[in-house]
Amino acid sequence: MASEEILTKSSEETIQFGRAIAARLAAPALVLLKGDLGAGKTTLSKGIISGLGVAREEEVTSPTFTLVHSYKNQGPPALKVFHVDLYRLEGTHDLESIALEDLLAEPAVVIIEWSERLTLRSDWPIVRIELEHQGGDCRRIRVTGLNELIAPARASAFPIPSKKAT
Ligand code: ADP
Ligand code: MG
Repeated sequence: MASEEILTKSSEETIQFGRAIAARLAAPALVLLKGDLGAGKTTLSKGIISGLGVAREEEVTSPTFTLVHSYKNQGPPALKVFHVDLYRLEGTHDLESIALEDLLAEPAVVIIEWSERLTLRSDWPIVRIELEHQGGDCRRIRVTGLNELIAPARASAFPIPSKKAT
């Protein structure tokens, strides 16, 4: 699966990169963010969520305590975005309160920090993003699956004839 990688040198650059990712995202999509505390997952989410046009950058805060924040715009096209942080996930009560299955019930962009705390079952396209400290304000960001995500839309616009049955 194709992956792309960039280095950012400030949180502003990371937000900018998030906006660039948003421009290539379409619902339904699961965006899984991986990286240590302070790596920039929430900062990148600010860029993605504001880039999707469902909130202003300063309105996007970490869902650390509530576990999930939801955003939407009326469109057109209407779009729902959920920003989940599983860092403090403890036990089944928390899981029920997030109701992930409900979030995945209708097409949305679902962004999850610390998704490795759960086994997720979904047939939605997945974009994986890994963030890594590189010293000071430098971060390495690697994105996998973004090209595959837009491929189906292109494919349906230019249908490829299926193989003839023999
Ligand atoms: P996480 O959600 O991964 O725990 P946050 O995005 O909440 O991380 O925090 C990242 C912190 O690092 C913020 O205080 C941010 O200002 C700072 N920072 C410094 N340089 C960068 C960068 N290049 N990209 C993202 N955040 C950065
Ligand atoms: Mg965070």
